[in-house]
Amino acid sequence: MTEERRRPTLDAIFRPKNIAVVGASKKVGKIGRELVRNLFGYEFEGTIFPVNVQERFISSTKCYESLAAIPDPVDMAVISVPRARVRAALEDCVAKGVRGLVIITAGFKETGEAGALEERELLELVRAGGMIAVGPNCMGVINTDPAVRMNATFGPQQVLPGNVSFLSQSGALGVVLIEQATEIGLGLRMFVSQGNRMDASTDQFLEYWHRDPGTEVILLYIESFGAPRTFPRLARQVAREKPVVVLKSGRTAAGARAASSHTGALAGADAAYDAFFHQTGVYRVSSIEELFDVGKAFAYQRPSRGDGVAILTNAGGPAIMAADACASLGLRLPDLGEATRERLRAALPPEAATQNPVDMIASATPATYRACMNALLGDPAVDALLVVFVAPPTMDPSATLEAIAEVAGSCDRTVVVCLMGRLEQLGHTEALRARRVPAYVYPESAVRALAALVHRGQWLRKPQGEVLDAAVDRNAARAVVEAAALRGGGYLDDAGVQALLAAYGIPLASARRCPTEDAAVAAAAELGLPVVMKVSCPGVVHKSDAGGVFLGLRSELEVRGAYHRIRSAVAPRLPCADDFQVLVQEQIEGGQEIIIGMTSDPNFGPLIMCGIGGIYVEVLKDVVFRLCPVTEPDADEMIRELRGFPLLTGVRGGEPADLGFLREMLQRVSLLVSDCPEIAELDINPFKVFSARARCVAVDARVRITAPTPPPGP
Ligand code: ADP
Ligand code: MG
Repeated sequence: MTEERRRPTLDAIFRPKNIAVVGASKKVGKIGRELVRNLFGYEFEGTIFPVNVQERFISSTKCYESLAAIPDPVDMAVISVPRARVRAALEDCVAKGVRGLVIITAGFKETGEAGALEERELLELVRAGGMIAVGPNCMGVINTDPAVRMNATFGPQQVLPGNVSFLSQSGALGVVLIEQATEIGLGLRMFVSQGNRMDASTDQFLEYWHRDPGTEVILLYIESFGAPRTFPRLARQVAREKPVVVLKSGRTAAGARAASSHTGALAGADAAYDAFFHQTGVYRVSSIEELFDVGKAFAYQRPSRGDGVAILTNAGGPAIMAADACASLGLRLPDLGEATRERLRAALPPEAATQNPVDMIASATPATYRACMNALLGDPAVDALLVVFVAPPTMDPSATLEAIAEVAGSCDRTVVVCLMGRLEQLGHTEALRARRVPAYVYPESAVRALAALVHRGQWLRKPQGEVLDAAVDRNAARAVVEAAALRGGGYLDDAGVQALLAAYGIPLASARRCPTEDAAVAAAAELGLPVVMKVSCPGVVHKSDAGGVFLGLRSELEVRGAYHRIRSAVAPRLPCADDFQVLVQEQIEGGQEIIIGMTSDPNFGPLIMCGIGGIYVEVLKDVVFRLCPVTEPDADEMIRELRGFPLLTGVRGGEPADLGFLREMLQRVSLLVSDCPEIAELDINPFKVFSARARCVAVDARVRITAPTPPPGP
């Protein structure tokens, strides 16, 4: 067996010089016919080789009986042969030196176990043959770059070129979506229907489009996310430069998340999704319509410099609806300055309203629109402008649209337009399109689009921060988790927890594990009274519920008494009876109790939690989640979003907490769980915070290690 060839990049899929259509056809109704028709119809810049044993010509082009019969090299192959012949077709591709594969044929993983097995075999062939594949069970790929002009789908033939690249996991929806995009004037750069996503991953497309200069906006229609440990970080990087909009369908896999900890129990189904969208700046939409509305906004307009919106209209009703929509999406309608109102009055009849929303009334002419738009754009309180135009039945709307387009297209503010009536469908909106001014039919859609532009502006202005660069003893932590994983995973004992947290600079109250009563008395003397005594039993979530926590032991007698209570009444009911030990710990008076935790999310990897801690966390449910890595601004937001945040600033004469230290602790936990992916769950509860950082300390922590799994394939 020859050594594996280097894996090609997605250029092999999106920029082939020539394409073989294996399974090309003349028969109406066959996918193989649509593919050839679209490739020719969209005027592919390279060569097209139809392959079919039975035909000599297809679309006036020579048809080859096999890949081997093609005299030239072949870069990319679109496979649409019957399922049973896919494997043989792939073998031919390997022999021919094909690099990119688009497998249209369905009937694999989506049909059950046998299909999944066949699909795995196809993948092996793809990898060993040094190819990269899209599909199977997909509708193909498009690249509208004038240098390529490839429509290798069986969807609509004509595709409006533009700056939006679009990934759809579903094939059937892909067809509808492309048609829809063209209809609303959303120009595409590239398109891929992923199908079963056997090989090329969502991460790869995201990276590819990140680098593609022609892609300015990325839309994803997905049922599941990419690789949990890399996707959030990558998405965050990409979204810094290009808007990424996601429509995620299907149920969340939250049920699969571990929940044998406070953190796991408190992480509701949406915690990870909320954190993901919050942190990565990836914009979440909840319908196909919104995907396109927002996609068009990003494709045409710059993000807004602020949240102050002015509404300009020639009809009252739609402006009121727009104002309501603004309020519900968190957009402000600022009062207009006196100078602005003066300019408006000069341009408008006395019956018009010169307050925001500005109602010019139905008599507004193109010149009125022009004057009022300029007046509003001259107001420093106006960050974005929504222009509403209801075309009167008797009037030719083109001059007004021309005026709106001209002012909007030459200003430095964010402008969106709402055209009531069917102006868009009647083809009057070319002037707006040419000036990259997005137009919407309904006020709500226009405001939704505006909200996305405002949100993006806010996100871009927010400091992202760096991942904490702290001196940690990674090797010491890895030694603890690797040893635990080798033992089959499970909860770390107190010594393991102590070593792990110490390695990452997370202070834990001094404690001794004691197997006997006398050892407990000696430990108490050593630590200094008063002490705390707890049952030392790694798996127990609520030691205090089981009566296993004794606080404020002030004498040897009390220490002995607590020992006996734990030994005789508590331990026998817990799963640690055969290795009985107690934990004697220094008592930490006062402080605000915080919970810091981590649980693993199947879609996004480690999820970090901060909350108001203590024994009532599940009652209060005052917690905030973020994905790893938690940067300093992330940590700061986590703390400030807590309802109980005032408790940390010293209400009612309480002691204000050292928030800087708490931020650092959250980042250290994030670092720890990133460096040790074997950690499945972690609860530090409570972590006691004081105003002096030297006094801040955890008094209770639990860590669960996953059982080792074999490493994933290449
Ligand atoms: P569990 O969470 O398993 O019930 P903890 O060790 O967290 O057990 O103890 C329960 C509560 O007791 C804590 O929330 C805290 O209020 C208090 N506590 C525990 N250890 C100490 C300590 N060393 N100093 C002061 N208070 C403590
Ligand atoms: Mg606790």
